[in-house]
Amino acid sequence: MRKPIVAGNWKMYKTPSEAVNFVREVGNSFVSVTGIDIVICAPFTALDRLGEAVAGKNMALGAQNMHFLKEGAFTGEIAPGMLVELGVKYVIIGHSERRQFFNETDESVNMKVKAALAAGLVPIVCVGEKLAEREVGDTFKVVDAQTRAAFAGVSQEQAKDIVIAYEPIWAIGTGKTATAQDANEVCAHIRQTVGTLYDGETAQAIRIQYGGSVKPENIAELMEQPHIDGALVGGASLQPQSFVALVQAAH
Ligand code: PEP
Repeated sequence: MRKPIVAGNWKMYKTPSEAVNFVREVGNSFVSVTGIDIVICAPFTALDRLGEAVAGKNMALGAQNMHFLKEGAFTGEIAPGMLVELGVKYVIIGHSERRQFFNETDESVNMKVKAALAAGLVPIVCVGEKLAEREVGDTFKVVDAQTRAAFAGVSQEQAKDIVIAYEPIWAIGTGKTATAQDANEVCAHIRQTVGTLYDGETAQAIRIQYGGSVKPENIAELMEQPHIDGALVGGASLQPQSFVALVQAAH
């Protein structure tokens, strides 16, 4: 049985004090919730104070990016160990916004995935097709190539820990959601790809989230699908009431 995982991706929203207020408003809503991993992927600047704020609240911390090296002369970058020391458990890697606006490539995604695993962080690896790619029937081809590239050189033991987020780019922040059936079909294909890279057991163990305009109103139907193990949520994760409603509906 795969443990579901709901993660909020706050992107470039919330100062440290706004982040702490969010946790205060969520309060003890998740304290007795079991059987689901609840994650907040916050801006780097909020992670330190959030680490203290989420203690005992059953929420794990995630970052939204990192560098693949341990340290070095890379102005403006954040190393894996810097995140670990703040109590961060997860890190989003290869989000489509980073691929689109910050030159993230399949190769850098792969280096970051390996560096995250080596540091003890759980990578949430984003894959997904553009609208034009979907329209010409290339969805499987695109997610297949992104998945293969992300897992290159990753051992079977470590592969099981990786979370994949299938995020069709045309559904991110647009209000358009893939139908639950469509999303499930692509997640099933990604699982099959992992199976060909490793084996059936690894494919069954790996968790695959869907992301793209997920809201409290549509998360339950998505999570009912056999190959969807959770959601990566942008806009609807920013308000405490909405985030609590997402987790409750996903559960
Ligand atoms: C995301 O940022 O990963 C995302 C899916 O955003 P939204 O939920 O706003 O579409």
